[in-house]
Amino acid sequence: MNTLNRCPECGSKQTRKVSVIYEEGTADTHQRGGFAGTTFERDGIHSLSGHYGGRGRVETKLAQRVAPPHLQSPGDFYIRVAILGSLACLLLMGICLFILDLMLPVLVLLVIMVGVAFWAFSQRETANRWHQERIYQPQLEQWRQSYYCLRCGHTFIP
Ligand SMILES: [Zn+2]
Repeated sequence: MNTLNRCPECGSKQTRKVSVIYEEGTADTHQRGGFAGTTFERDGIHSLSGHYGGRGRVETKLAQRVAPPHLQSPGDFYIRVAILGSLACLLLMGICLFILDLMLPVLVLLVIMVGVAFWAFSQRETANRWHQERIYQPQLEQWRQSYYCLRCGHTFIP
């Protein structure tokens, strides 16, 4: 084992890359099965049976501790803004059309709605790309270089 990868906390050489630990500790599963059993309780004997099935990802406790960073999409905020904006526009359009009987403001609102939608989608792209490049990628790179001490649990970059 490489002495460069000694734990700075306790000096142990028993260290491993977190990415390797994570891969070893996770498994994608697809299982199907049944169960049946009997329980004995104060008020009598009960029998239980059932079945289960599903796909999933199993992670050991250790794998959870050394999991890679999550990719988030903060740009989705703009989509929520656009949805609220569109609802407000629709409300105003309804008022103009059915109560005030005006057509021109409805057309103007329609143009605003489309504009806001385009703006929101481009803002979302920009924000998500920024997050991925400036925050997620460096975090992932750091994670790839990290080691985990099997003796004391310290995570470090050698
Ligand atoms: Zn250690």
